[in-house]
Amino acid sequence: MKMACSALSVSVQFKAILLLVCLQLVVSVSASAIEQTQTQTQTQREFDYFALALQWPGTYCQRTRYCCSSNACCRRSNAPTEFTIHGLWPDYNDGSWPACCTRSNFDEKLISTLHDDLEKYWPSLSCGSPSTCHGGKGSFWAHEWEKHGTCSFPVIRDEYNYFLTGLSVYFKYNVTQVLENAGYIPSNTEKYPLGGIVSAIENAFHATPLLVCSKGSVEELHLCFYKDFKPRDCVVGSSTLNDMVSSKSSCPLYVSLPAYVSLGLDSVKTTLSLDA
Ligand code: 5GP
Ligand code: 5GP
Repeated sequence: MKMACSALSVSVQFKAILLLVCLQLVVSVSASAIEQTQTQTQTQREFDYFALALQWPGTYCQRTRYCCSSNACCRRSNAPTEFTIHGLWPDYNDGSWPACCTRSNFDEKLISTLHDDLEKYWPSLSCGSPSTCHGGKGSFWAHEWEKHGTCSFPVIRDEYNYFLTGLSVYFKYNVTQVLENAGYIPSNTEKYPLGGIVSAIENAFHATPLLVCSKGSVEELHLCFYKDFKPRDCVVGSSTLNDMVSSKSSCPLYVSLPAYVSLGLDSVKTTLSLDA
């Protein structure tokens, strides 16, 4: 499977198709392997569903105070203008989630064939060096794998398949495209009804997303999936707009979807691990 999936470089269309085929393989191989001996130490109970957490660069990049090579907000004309991936998160139905489930340390070499896609679709939008699970600091990818990826067992069993699956689901459910088709275009002047954004996603994917806002702007949009990657509602039970506007989401009834504004910041050679 790894060899087939490594051919991800070719053309964009081929790549998308290959990724989807790979996703099917990942799921079926994982399912048939459930009965096999578990090689990783598990201390937390198995998760219930996945959330694909997407982040909106137009909102995140407004926070950038200084630049560094790891921050995609600093790419100026090449900065991302679509939702990018924050993480693929195993969650429990009660609203909690497992974290740091095994001692598997992140190894960037294992995902070298995915590197270009990850830089483009799963970039860090910060200069911060997040903590990893076992006392160190690492990249954004290291943080996501160690904190969340290690808990996606037995559906996803290793680091390579964690990132491959994240990309595959992201390609299959193109939130930016759905919102654009519904008329929700990035803008620094317009505000859009939260209910309209939610409905556009529901109509496209037949499941209710979760939106997270910061100061009235969309910061994250989460899509949720059963363990076979069929879409499901993110909020368990009644998933009304009131739930969305309350507590966790912090979104007002009318939200902004800010357009990316080139930062005009100088790169700073720094090893500071402050968040940008
Ligand atoms: P925040 O407090 O900014 O919402 O979340 C901080 C971190 O907690 C996230 O980056 C993520 O690692 C974790 N987190 C927050 N909400 C969820 C969730 O619903 N599911 C999972 N698995 N992790 C979450
Ligand atoms: P989470 O909130 O996922 O648990 O943690 C994210 C960690 O990664 C934080 O320490 C944050 O500073 C760092 N980080 C690096 N790049 C990004 C990014 O693009 N988005 C978010 N949310 N956090 C990032």
